[in-house]
Amino acid sequence: MKLETLAIHGGNIVSDTEKPVVQPITLSTTFVHQPESMIYARANNPNRHTLEKLLAALEKGADAAAFSSGNAAGVSVFQSLEPGSHIIAPDDMYHGLKNAILSIFKGVLECTFVDMTDLDKVEQAFQPNTKLVWVETPSNPLLKVTDITAVANLAKVMGAILACDNTFATPVFQNPISLGADIVMHSSTKYFGGHSDILGGALITKELDEFWEKVKNVQISGGAVPSPMDCYYLCRSIKTLPYRMKGHAEHAMVLANFLSTHDAVEKVYYPGLKSHPGHMIAANQMSSFGGVVSFQVNGGADVADRVISKLKYYINATSLGGVESLIERRAASEGPDTLTPQNLIRVSVGLEHLYDLLDDMENALK
Ligand SMILES: *Cc1c(COP(=O)(O)O)cnc(C)c1O
Repeated sequence: MKLETLAIHGGNIVSDTEKPVVQPITLSTTFVHQPESMIYARANNPNRHTLEKLLAALEKGADAAAFSSGNAAGVSVFQSLEPGSHIIAPDDMYHGLKNAILSIFKGVLECTFVDMTDLDKVEQAFQPNTKLVWVETPSNPLLKVTDITAVANLAKVMGAILACDNTFATPVFQNPISLGADIVMHSSTKYFGGHSDILGGALITKELDEFWEKVKNVQISGGAVPSPMDCYYLCRSIKTLPYRMKGHAEHAMVLANFLSTHDAVEKVYYPGLKSHPGHMIAANQMSSFGGVVSFQVNGGADVADRVISKLKYYINATSLGGVESLIERRAASEGPDTLTPQNLIRVSVGLEHLYDLLDDMENALK
């Protein structure tokens, strides 16, 4: 099946007797004991089962685990490591996961944060106890691009697992498993959900190995699982994911070009721009460049805040991946320790009419 067909038909396991066109929501928390049946909703549920099959197929993996948030998915990978393990992670890692490593796993796991775009630095960061390398590409919010295959090769030589946060690219534009990753992570809150109304996360594995057994145990015993309703809505949203992503990426490319020629703009971050340092790598490993554009205005945080306040269609809110355009001054959301420039604005480019988005931005930058 091609991706668009899989997205529509892969998330629909229906009963042979009633033959509904769309899989019903099964709310029951428990199931009558019989051979082969599901037992209890924390362990499995028909809607979650379908969602996990769909996610595994979309990411070309052997299995998937759905979680109640992207952070729950990421933290489950860290929880599956032996105490004393060392992680290599990006210095601009999604701030919520970076904070989780530094707070929850303090004294339990070691972590070195490096610039993943510098392969020498990545290589130097390995220690005898390095068990996991984490990449996020394109990264949030600086849109840095990491060469997944190159880092996968390093990880393999050193005997570490490579996990890739694929939230920004989605399987529509990038398949980390095909590029050498062992685990793919998603915040399904973003493009999978696509309408800013579902919180969710996912992990997909390349192989059914020992590490995956540990991850599944954390999912089921830890219990940070999504509800049947959330799983249903995710399967529903994923049906339009390929077309939404095409629209997001098309709009983002035009907006990035517009911003990069504007006098009020200091710098634009979008991997689709030839001037982006990761452009060639992105062009190699992605089929398109995604729907998030970041830019710095000329001036400080006050100028950035003023631009945002003048916009009509871009909503000043955190998060990304919805059909509505969202915008925020990112450093304000990341807290005092952030490395993100204070005048950096992150845009999740939505599916409103492109001309409305461009006009609105032009007016706000005046
Ligand atoms: C939002 C996000 C997360 C965390 O996901 P939640 O669903 O908010 O828990 C992780 N990584 C990236 C890149 C994200 O954008």
